[in-house]
Amino acid sequence: MTFSELKLHPDLLAALPSQYQRPTRIQQLTIPVILAKQDVLALAQTGSGKTLAFGLPLLQKIQLQQLQQDLTPPQALILVPTRELATQIGTVLQPLAQAMHIGTVTLCGGVAQEQQLAALATGPQLLVATPGRLLDLLEQQLLSPDAITQLVLDEADRLLEMGFWPDIQKILAKLPAKRQTLLFSATLPAELENIASHLLTDPARLEA
Ligand code: AMP
Repeated sequence: MTFSELKLHPDLLAALPSQYQRPTRIQQLTIPVILAKQDVLALAQTGSGKTLAFGLPLLQKIQLQQLQQDLTPPQALILVPTRELATQIGTVLQPLAQAMHIGTVTLCGGVAQEQQLAALATGPQLLVATPGRLLDLLEQQLLSPDAITQLVLDEADRLLEMGFWPDIQKILAKLPAKRQTLLFSATLPAELENIASHLLTDPARLEA
């Protein structure tokens, strides 16, 4: 299978690094399902190509989405457990987002809030964030969650292990109920399986 068979936008295809000749197994599985608007529970290890497995269809859907006039971006949020992972995902998705004229901002602890507020003022459509900093900004009402209808929880097992679940629940309560949710995890402990059953609607279970 090739990337163009996955019905990805020509601008995304053109921006893919030329050494990526074929989609990885997890990308082949998740991209059509995400484009078809279904929720996803994906078991995928680091190194499987999981970032683009959610990143490519997410960027395509953001570009297709016409925001209602009374809503302000962002419309997509990727929640991750660590600053390092947020930075890594931001770096991978940034050139692809740029090719689609989509703004992205990474929000995580350890960076001055003023700097992040200046970045948010540019009206990015996609946020990559750690839960603590995102919740902080939401609680200060420095960020509108009203248009966030695409949510990714990446490395969900680590989000749980690291004790982020209470913060995530508070974030979820502020997001629109009608949304597409994608949960990516390397492992699926019983507690996460239980959370997923509440969080996801009729998810496709995909494993690379
Ligand atoms: P990830 O699992 O997202 O951390 O990706 C692991 C590595 O695979 C990263 O270095 C990516 O740049 C690379 N990668 C992702 N998708 C592909 C692909 N389709 N072909 C070759 N390499 C890829």
